[in-house]
Amino acid sequence: MIPPIARRFVAGESPNGAIEHAKTINKRDVGAIVNVLGEHYTDPTQAEQDAEEYLELLEIIDGCENRICISVKPSQIGLDIDDTAFMNNLERIVDVAASQDTFVWIDMEDHTTTDVTLDAFETLTVKHGGGVGVCVQANLKRTATDLERLASLPGKIRLVKGAYDEPATVAYRDKARVNEEYRDLMSFMFESFRSGIAIGSHDPEMIDLASDLHRTYGTEFELQMLMGVRDDAQYELALENDVFQYVPYGDRWLSYFYRRAMERKENALFAARAILGR
Ligand code: FAD
Repeated sequence: MIPPIARRFVAGESPNGAIEHAKTINKRDVGAIVNVLGEHYTDPTQAEQDAEEYLELLEIIDGCENRICISVKPSQIGLDIDDTAFMNNLERIVDVAASQDTFVWIDMEDHTTTDVTLDAFETLTVKHGGGVGVCVQANLKRTATDLERLASLPGKIRLVKGAYDEPATVAYRDKARVNEEYRDLMSFMFESFRSGIAIGSHDPEMIDLASDLHRTYGTEFELQMLMGVRDDAQYELALENDVFQYVPYGDRWLSYFYRRAMERKENALFAARAILGR
């Protein structure tokens, strides 16, 4: 069972927990991006099981009138096995999702996976005329070029700063440099994209910049943040913006919770206090 302390960041172990959480945040105008926790499977059975779990999740989503989409990690549905296993599983998920009008996000993992992930996105978003989104990372030096290719495609692009510890040969490692790149890439997207910009960041400066760029170019956008991170800001921003919350669930919650708790001092203190019962 998930301890109460981890429930801030993880919506339970079952799809029903995630759907219940999604319904709660929907009431405050925040949409849900539901993710089944899992990554880096080298056993095809595990990848298959998670693909099946997404199909079951889609069936539940189809039955409720809520603002819910899903987000899938490539290495949880076969990318660490081979490209074909990944593509087959992803296509099954996206085909079902498209038939019921549920949006599918593809998370982006480390730089060795970027090409195959973007290729899969392109194939499926062209096949369905949209309904699919992919994440790109501002810390990667290649992303400006990738965005030029992605600008003319249907679907949506989520811009994030990048969560993976990448080598300096392919990535900017200095935080200020990544922020500069994030601002430049965001400006390019608002100027050049006609559909589907998602700002995946908790950074107030980047959120303000997105609002400014929207005023300048008129391009629509959505804000995306993680469950348990700046929740009050999410509800406040949802009064005037399209806001989605990334809602993970599943029995592999421990390492995800650990990452969230450790990434900021206040979260680590919150975790320690809760463990000590104060
Ligand atoms: P940071 O640069 O970490 O911080 C900037 C400012 O934001 C801080 O000074 C503070 O004011 C505020 N802030 C940030 N975090 C917190 C917090 N915990 N509590 C309070 N304030 C905070 N990365 C990938 O590599 N691939 C993905 O597919 C991916 N998907 C993502 C999806 C979503 C919806 C989100 C929100 C992030 C995703 N990320 C992904 C992670 C992303 O790359 C960053 O590592 C992460 O979002 C931290 O960067 P930031 O812009 O939020 O803020």
